[in-house]
Amino acid sequence: MYFIEALKLRHKLFFLFILTTLGLIAIGITGALNINGMKKHIDSVYFGSLIPVAELNDILQTYHGSLVTGVYMAKSAGKSKSEINSQIESSLAKIEKLWKNYETHFKRDEEIAYIDYVSLEIKSTNNYFVKIVKASNDGKDLRLLSIDSLEKRISRIHSVLKKLINYEVDVAKFERKNFLSRYHSTIIEVGIMLVIVILAVLFISLYVFKSIQKDHTRLEIATKKLKIANKKLENVSYTDSLTTLHNRRYFNLVYERELKRAQRTHSYITFMMLDIDYFKQYNDTYGHLEGDYALKSVAKVLKDTLKRPSDYVFRLGGEEFGVLLTQTNVEDSTKLAENICDVVREREIKHEASKVHAFLTISIGVVCCIADDALLENILLTRADAMLYEAKENGRNRCEISTYITEATPQMVEENEEEVLTA
Ligand code: GH3
Ligand code: MG
Ligand code: MG
Repeated sequence: MYFIEALKLRHKLFFLFILTTLGLIAIGITGALNINGMKKHIDSVYFGSLIPVAELNDILQTYHGSLVTGVYMAKSAGKSKSEINSQIESSLAKIEKLWKNYETHFKRDEEIAYIDYVSLEIKSTNNYFVKIVKASNDGKDLRLLSIDSLEKRISRIHSVLKKLINYEVDVAKFERKNFLSRYHSTIIEVGIMLVIVILAVLFISLYVFKSIQKDHTRLEIATKKLKIANKKLENVSYTDSLTTLHNRRYFNLVYERELKRAQRTHSYITFMMLDIDYFKQYNDTYGHLEGDYALKSVAKVLKDTLKRPSDYVFRLGGEEFGVLLTQTNVEDSTKLAENICDVVREREIKHEASKVHAFLTISIGVVCCIADDALLENILLTRADAMLYEAKENGRNRCEISTYITEATPQMVEENEEEVLTA
């Protein structure tokens, strides 16, 4: 049965279909063969026995009836000579015709000898009557005819024919018995085959459906695994491998989504751009491996400080990080940015080449405002970048915050004013 399991679904169903069809064909053939056999028995009973019996009875009746009465009438001179002769002749013709018909029916080997004997007896009996007719035609007096010899003749042919009739009746009974036993064996054979086929189909169906179910479960498990793998892959594609923070790709996705959400609800949105101070010098002093370690430390500070589910921290590239906050007002955003600056410095990562502090420090450009439809998509980034530049200019190790977005880029304000004027 393992081979069924190995088959593909459509092959399994095809196998079931073939099995059912073969089973039905086998039942059909058995039924047809048996019905054909039964038909032969019925034909044999009907044509081989019943019709012959009827014909033999007719012959017997003709002997007893018209022939014997014809002779008695001749003896008593109750009818004219010609009438009597024609009655005898037509009866003899009828008997010959019936006998010929009887002889055409199927005969068994064992009865052929007796039939030949009966044939001779009929001929001899008929000759007896032909002689009577001839004598009558020759003008002999039929009243002198011996009744004894007539009765002997008739009783002889009677017993001969009766024996044949009894034989045919026995054959009919025998054939009926055969027919009945064939009928019963047909019912039993077809019944058994039907039960076998039904059980086989049920068994195979059960097996096929079980294996389909197994396939289905396997498919479900595989789909689940695939989903998990896809999710992992997605996470990997959105994660920075060094810091395990979200990467720039994920930032692009989240930034647009959160900005639109804030615009819809007219709520606060904060974006911070963070950059490590004198990091080039840090690398030059301590090497790139230490540089990477410092990047991880800053990332950890950001993760530990920003814990709300709506806080997003990204490594935007190199030693630059981004922070996106929603539902956080100016005061809280400022506090958070300052806190980040302090905590990074308090990690006391030595930075001898820094011109602002003995330890590693960062500068942050912060932009915080209530989002509305006028807020252009890139303006937060541009403005945060400008504020970061300002923080660097103002001595680093600090954060600069802006809440007045239209001041972000003077060029942009001019463009906006021009748009208003031309509108
Ligand atoms: P500033 O205070 O003006 O920002 O000075 P800076 O030296 O940090 O200037 P800048 O931002 O131009 O320097 C970036 C340096 O960050 C350059 C590169 O050596 C270093 N860096 C960028 N990506 C990585 C990284 O993945 N690992 C390490 N170790 N260093 C990196
Ligand atoms: Mg930089
Ligand atoms: Mg830097």
